[in-house]
Amino acid sequence: MGTVVFDLDGVVYVGDAAVPGAAETLRTLDDLGWRLVFATNNSTRTEDETADKIERLTGYRPRSSFAVTSGSAAVHYLRGRHESVLAVGAPGLTATIEAAGLETVDDPDRADAVVVGLDRGISYETIDRAASAIRKGAEFVATNTDATFPTPDGLAPGAGAIVAAIGSAAGAEPVSCGKPELPMRELLSSLVVGDEVVMVGDRAETDLAIARHLGWRAVLTLTGVTELASDVPRALEPDDVITSISELPGLLGGSVPKDKA
Ligand SMILES: [Mg+2]
Repeated sequence: MGTVVFDLDGVVYVGDAAVPGAAETLRTLDDLGWRLVFATNNSTRTEDETADKIERLTGYRPRSSFAVTSGSAAVHYLRGRHESVLAVGAPGLTATIEAAGLETVDDPDRADAVVVGLDRGISYETIDRAASAIRKGAEFVATNTDATFPTPDGLAPGAGAIVAAIGSAAGAEPVSCGKPELPMRELLSSLVVGDEVVMVGDRAETDLAIARHLGWRAVLTLTGVTELASDVPRALEPDDVITSISELPGLLGGSVPKDKA
């Protein structure tokens, strides 16, 4: 049948609450035979932890390798290129890098690459160490460059704000790996099956952009950062707009089996 690729925050859940109808939607699409893949630019959790959160909030458990993060995309980029990594980010990012068989190091002299994601405990010393490693020749890799992310209290600084601080100190520009960049596109392309691939997201410049790059059907859902479809730049106009993912089973043409409705 095909694959539905979901962004997570603002799509399946908002913060720590499932979007109404998310549980039924995921179960129904799975029953109808769609492969469900999840792709977030949040690098603070591992794939296992991301799958755990989806299950905790919706009851639907994806295979962990189908719950990819911008940390997974960074690892996809690093594999075969580098062996020792100075990681700036949450414990989930370090765990993602180590699970791929790469070594994480603290010493700027030993790093082949510096990978930067969201680090809520960022310090001057960390910025100094990362910038120093980059000036000494380590490759500068960003999980993603999203400047902010939404919280119930408003916008919070995203990985992009930390990447900018380190880049400024190092005088360097990073290779970025999350949506909509090439490493994430390659990773997701390896996970999808079937003739039809549908990307469902709330943010034009990441979610709709990746669908545009890959020729996938782009669906904008209005439960996240985009409040009005008219706010989307013309070049990224989606194929469909839904008020929430609970409209997806209807949109994708499969009627809900009666015993499951
Ligand atoms: Mg989102």
